[in-house]
Amino acid sequence: CCFSHDFKSCPENQEFLEDLRGWAEIAPHLYIWDYVVNFSHYIMPYPNFRVLKSNINTFRENKAIGIMEQAAYQSRGGEFAELRAYLLSKLLWNPDSDVQPIINDFMYGYYGRSGQYVQQYFDLLHNRITPDTHIHLGLSPDDPLFSDEFVREGIEIFEQAKKVADNEEIRQRVEVVELPILYLKCRRSPREALADGTYDLFKKVVEREGITHYAESGKPHKDEFHHGMENLE
Ligand SMILES: [Zn+2]
Ligand SMILES: [Zn+2]
Repeated sequence: CCFSHDFKSCPENQEFLEDLRGWAEIAPHLYIWDYVVNFSHYIMPYPNFRVLKSNINTFRENKAIGIMEQAAYQSRGGEFAELRAYLLSKLLWNPDSDVQPIINDFMYGYYGRSGQYVQQYFDLLHNRITPDTHIHLGLSPDDPLFSDEFVREGIEIFEQAKKVADNEEIRQRVEVVELPILYLKCRRSPREALADGTYDLFKKVVEREGITHYAESGKPHKDEFHHGMENLE
């Protein structure tokens, strides 16, 4: 399936949608196990927020009475993990909820004054989606969805966000939500990330926060990432 576009709007999802409707025809109820993060890079940008409500409603229209939204379940530090869990909880409770007020509420409630910038980054990321940008589980750092310009702009926004943080606790929350763009830079431009302090900042924050999994595969992925960064030829 494609997760930048919802089940109903993306041609890539037609086959899945037909399967779902087929099951709804022959089963009294459905229980759904859905995937809402990139298991290959938990800690990398993954703009699927615009499909969450629509997809939950598509399940509901097709006799779903239970939905499990599987995300980064082994560690903290997943991309927008706090916001994703908050929004999904609201939507599972009431699939008719308006998404934007929930996101706004979270941005200002959890990130305080920095929230306006976190929101700006969130929009920058999601506005990269066009009818031609399909994203899948396993989205890679080299995907055409991303660009070096996007990485530069994203990091700049977080500089602003950290400057206006209400207090140290909130500043640290902003550092956590910044990790995915730092990780993306390390993956795309490792030399630059090492030279300009991006890697050092990433490493400092993941150690402080005790983040163990950058991907579902855990330690091998994490070791490979750090080994690669610290042994650039
Ligand atoms: Zn696909
Ligand atoms: Zn698509």
